[in-house]
Amino acid sequence: MKQSINDKTIKELEDIFLEKGYQKFRAKQVFRQIHVNKVNDFSQMTDLSKDMRESLSNEFEIDKVSLLKTFESKIDSTKKYLFELKDGNIIEAVFMDYKDRKTICISSQVGCRMGCTFCASTKNGLERHMTASELIEEVYTLERLNGDINNIVIMGIGEPLDNYKNITKFLEIITDENGRNLSHRSITLSTSGLTPKIYDLADSGLDINLAVSLHYATDEKRKKYMPVAKKYDIKGLIKATDYYLDKTKRRVSFEYVVIDGVNNLDSDIDNLKKLLMGKNIHINLIPLNPIEEFKHGKTTNKIINDFKEKLTRNGLNATVRYSMGQDIDASCGQLRNNYAR
Ligand code: SAH
Repeated sequence: MKQSINDKTIKELEDIFLEKGYQKFRAKQVFRQIHVNKVNDFSQMTDLSKDMRESLSNEFEIDKVSLLKTFESKIDSTKKYLFELKDGNIIEAVFMDYKDRKTICISSQVGCRMGCTFCASTKNGLERHMTASELIEEVYTLERLNGDINNIVIMGIGEPLDNYKNITKFLEIITDENGRNLSHRSITLSTSGLTPKIYDLADSGLDINLAVSLHYATDEKRKKYMPVAKKYDIKGLIKATDYYLDKTKRRVSFEYVVIDGVNNLDSDIDNLKKLLMGKNIHINLIPLNPIEEFKHGKTTNKIINDFKEKLTRNGLNATVRYSMGQDIDASCGQLRNNYAR
């Protein structure tokens, strides 16, 4: 089996190359071709001899991510993509161009095993993790289509901390200053709340931004909609985010999908105050994107703004994340599911 090449640091490549009898300096050359020039085909690495290109392609590979379908919004610049992986699996990614900041939202797994009742991505369970090689190609494919991007949010299909090894490898490579050199602070990872992995991420030195999908302010409610809450309670989760802030100096944000009549009650505000008051955090309110399997309607602007006002009046720092590309709809997972149907 060929080993992947685009998920290796220069040092790792040097060791592999030396072992295989290539000259050491070739490692840096190949690394730059992949991560600076974004070449994903050995035949295009024209600074290498033809022989070397050929033997590299016999021994190494890049897990390609190919464009299957593009959905372009007519009301803003958002584009959503279906990508096909080498084994035929399908994932989604989003490109947003907002106030001169190009942001991409990427998937981290094929499917998801977290089972949140309101989320389309998890409806058919987890198919498999995405490889680090695929995660890197996911970003570069989006950049080949749209030019260099400024921000990455890992909020597409999948639970990134459930794919911890590949995600951290991907982050290490994409922030490498000899290659793509994305800044750590331009990357945000969203988790449904795998508490032990939040500690690991804090200790990893990667220092990216962390978003936590809280959505409900009591364990009782959270357990009803998010199975992960049965394993990790809110108190322990918040403690892990305190540790994250302390260690990385990055303010953690809490995502809160507002579901009218379910989690926007006065008691929810009281409970949120108990949990978060006085902490250096931020609450991101998200309108519910209705999915077939979850019987609640779209959150109106009025409902979400009222809730935001109340939180603010109560001293909690909250903003609304308006969904882009409303007309191409589909909260993550829906495009893939529809395509499969
Ligand atoms: N698994 C990670 C990241 C992917 S989801 C996580 O749970 O954080 C990105 C965000 O979209 C999460 O906050 C998730 O709860 C939210 N989300 C899921 N389904 C949604 C829906 N139907 N409407 C609005 N937001 C949704």
